[in-house]
Amino acid sequence: MITYAVVIPTIGRAGLAQLVATVDGQPAPSCIVVADDRRDATSALDLPATTAPLVVVRTHGRGPAAARNAGWRAADADWIAFLDDDVAIPLDWCRRLVADLDDLPDDVAASQAWIYVPAPDDRLPTDGERRTMNLSGALWITADMAYRRSALLATGGFDERFPRAFREDADLALRTVRLGYSIVWGERVTTHPLAPSAGWRSSLRAQAGNADNALLHAKYGRQWRSLIGTTPGSTGRHLITTVAATAALAALASGWVALTRGHWARVAATAGLVWAGLTAEFAAGRILSGPRTAREISTVLVTSVLIPPFAVAHRLRGELRVRFAGLKDIRIPSGKPRAVLFDRDGTLIEDVPYLADPHRVRPVPGARRTLNHLRRHGVAVGVISNQSGVARGLIHAEELARVNARVESLLGPFDTWQVCPHGPDDGCGCRKPEPGLVTAAARELGLAPHECLMIGDIGSDVDAALAAGARAVLVPTRHTKVGEIDHAYLVAAVAPTLRSAVRRHVGRSR
Ligand SMILES: [Mg+2]
Ligand SMILES: [Zn+2]
Repeated sequence: MITYAVVIPTIGRAGLAQLVATVDGQPAPSCIVVADDRRDATSALDLPATTAPLVVVRTHGRGPAAARNAGWRAADADWIAFLDDDVAIPLDWCRRLVADLDDLPDDVAASQAWIYVPAPDDRLPTDGERRTMNLSGALWITADMAYRRSALLATGGFDERFPRAFREDADLALRTVRLGYSIVWGERVTTHPLAPSAGWRSSLRAQAGNADNALLHAKYGRQWRSLIGTTPGSTGRHLITTVAATAALAALASGWVALTRGHWARVAATAGLVWAGLTAEFAAGRILSGPRTAREISTVLVTSVLIPPFAVAHRLRGELRVRFAGLKDIRIPSGKPRAVLFDRDGTLIEDVPYLADPHRVRPVPGARRTLNHLRRHGVAVGVISNQSGVARGLIHAEELARVNARVESLLGPFDTWQVCPHGPDDGCGCRKPEPGLVTAAARELGLAPHECLMIGDIGSDVDAALAAGARAVLVPTRHTKVGEIDHAYLVAAVAPTLRSAVRRHVGRSR
């Protein structure tokens, strides 16, 4: 029988107490975590008494990604079920959830509920309501989504650079799938009620999501929309509309100043027509899909004029942030590496501190198969290892040679061995996180560093690879620090096993 914890990020909306009472059901969750993301959390949340342990963590308005991360890290269970605080779940939700999760194969990382958004029955939905209705059937949204905790550890969880409830869920799901996991639909159905009207400005506020699109673009490249299964965006159209409006206004202004009306008036009229045509088409589409009340029509007319420049401005803000906040190089490279360099201890063989006895060499599960797969496909393999035990006098050079010979006899031949025998205070350029061993391996193989992929179990393996200009994948063990995993998933990649690291980053085994 599986164990599960429920994590509810909240900004203190009205349905929270009811939701907590319902998830306190049977089979019981191992704990319920409420992640209180109110910026000003001076008053206590309205929470019922529960049978299951109830934990409250505070994230001070850092957004749903940060709140969910704080929540799952505080919960110990096989599965973490994320629920938004504005959904309505059936009374037997716990039973339905467990039925969905029980017996899922190990490579399934997540189970997503069907989200039902009831449409208003007496009229067409308003513009704001249609945004909520888009949740229905949307891929990978986290309003009711359960992840394996091990998969969250492997990916590092949500990317907290997504500040609002937009794209952060698709980003996590995409990284999860890229590690070789799959995400399935469960059978449980959760209702997302239509929110009461959020005012005429809500469609303008929603344009902030264009900044998050810029971050996704930077992370996954131009195909990001098809990767997350979303429809083509309207940024290009909005850009043309905004440029036409700007050109019309600029031509009018020039004509006014220069008093040479004829030429500038023609430019202004042409640009103005383009703007008017695009804006009218945009507004008409939005009016025809909604209730044609005077209020809704006037809201749509005003916002149809304002949305294009808002969208363009937010996208520009997102692009500038990517450029100037050090996010430019976050693209996960897609060419296949020609060599894979492995850390030895904790990556290829079980980590035994200062290992000097060849009889204690134990390969990690799957290491031999993974290496043979690479050799069969003509990918060079190497070992990159810090052995400060030599400098410390704990390992003799001959012992090290015998241990490494034993590694080869168990795992097969390596194309290059690079070992640093120095201590941390020797100031050498080869001890990881220095890049020396990685550059030496690339040179010996006749490759450029960027053609090499380094796989290791700690942060200094990743840092050495990146410093040398190689790529890196972290395969964490029990001993890997959470901060190092977080860092690796931002600057490189993380995989749960050697096999999945190679399958994802070098090529699929057949
Ligand atoms: Mg290691
Ligand atoms: Zn060294």
